[in-house]
Amino acid sequence: MISLGIEGTAWNLSVGIVNDQKILSHQQHPYQPSDGGIHPREASQHHSDKIAKIIKKTVSNANIQPQQIDLISFSLGPGMGPCLRVIATAARALTLTLEKPLVGVNHCIAHIESGKWSTGLDDPIILYVSGANSQVLGYKSKRYRVFGETLDIGLGNALDKFARKLNLNHPGGPKIEKLAKKGEKLIELPYSVKGMDFSFSGLVTAAEKKLQRGEKKEDICYSLQEYSFSMLTEVAERALAHSGKKELLLCGGVGKNQRLKQMLKEMSLEYQIKFGYPKKELMGDNGAMIAHTAIKMYESGIEHSPGIEVKTDYRTDEVEVKWRE
Ligand code: AMP
Ligand code: MG
Repeated sequence: MISLGIEGTAWNLSVGIVNDQKILSHQQHPYQPSDGGIHPREASQHHSDKIAKIIKKTVSNANIQPQQIDLISFSLGPGMGPCLRVIATAARALTLTLEKPLVGVNHCIAHIESGKWSTGLDDPIILYVSGANSQVLGYKSKRYRVFGETLDIGLGNALDKFARKLNLNHPGGPKIEKLAKKGEKLIELPYSVKGMDFSFSGLVTAAEKKLQRGEKKEDICYSLQEYSFSMLTEVAERALAHSGKKELLLCGGVGKNQRLKQMLKEMSLEYQIKFGYPKKELMGDNGAMIAHTAIKMYESGIEHSPGIEVKTDYRTDEVEVKWRE
C-alpha cells in the first residue's frame, strides 16, 4: 500500500510517501519566524503558500504517478488551528481529486508509531518531547496511556523561550545544546516533578533571573538541560519500573539532543532496558510518520470522511488503538 501523509501542526510543513516497508520520498519546508516565536497565522500562511509545491515534489521524488497513491492522510491535531486547517484542506482536495480514502492521524501517536517502525521496539515506554508536547506514555488495553506529562508548556517551547532571551532565533533547542556544551558550573534551578507530571515554565523564569543576575549563559544553558532532562529521566524510569516494560523509546524534536539521549541511555543500561530513538529525519515533525500511521489505522478499519474537523487539543489517550493487540 502506498500512503501519502501531510504534517503541518506547527512550524514544519512536511509531506511523506511511504509503503509498508520504507519511506519512498520525504520533503519539508519549515516556517522560520522572522523574530520571536511561532505566529499561528504567519505559519499557516507559510503552509498554504508552500503546500502544493511540496506535495508535487514529494510525488515526483517517489517516482510514482499520483494515481498509484492508495491512501491520503494528515495530522488531525493537536496543533495550531490555522495550520491544521491548511493541511486538512489540502488532504481533502487530494482525497476528492484522486478518489482515495482519507485518514486523520493524531500527531503524537504518529511519533510513537513511526518511532516503533524506525527502531523495531515492540512495546516500549515512550518519552515524547517536542515543542508543544512532553509526555511519558505506555500502551495498555487499546490506548497509549499517559503516565506523566507537562503541567504547563512543552520542553521544546521552554527551551525556545529561553533562547529568545539570548537573542537566538527559532528553533532554540539546538542552539542551547551548543552553548550547554561549554557550560562548566551547575546553577541551582527549580526541579519540578509532581507525582508523575513535570512543569517547565518556572524553570525558564528562574533561568531568566539568573541571566539578569549576570550568570554566564553557557552555565545557565548547561543547567537548564541538566535539570529538565533529569526530570524527564526520573519520570521515564518510574514508568518503566511501574509497568515492567523492558523498552524505552525517545521521540519528538527535543529527542535530537545528545545529552538527553546520554542520560536515558545510562538509566536504561542500569536496568537492562532496550533504549532506542528514530533516525533523525523521523525524530522531529514529519509527513512520513503520518503516512506510516495512516496505513496501520486504515488496515484496522479506520477511515474518515472529508468533512472531519481538525482537533487542536487532540489528546493521545483519546485514540482507540485498534491496530494493536
Ligand atoms: P517537534 O515539535 O517535534 O518538531 O520539535 C521541535 C522542538 O524541538 C523545538 O522546540 C526545538 O527547539 C526542539 N529541538 C530540536 N533540536 C533540539 C536539540 N538538539 N536539543 C533540544 N531541543 C531541540
Ligand atoms: Mg511533534
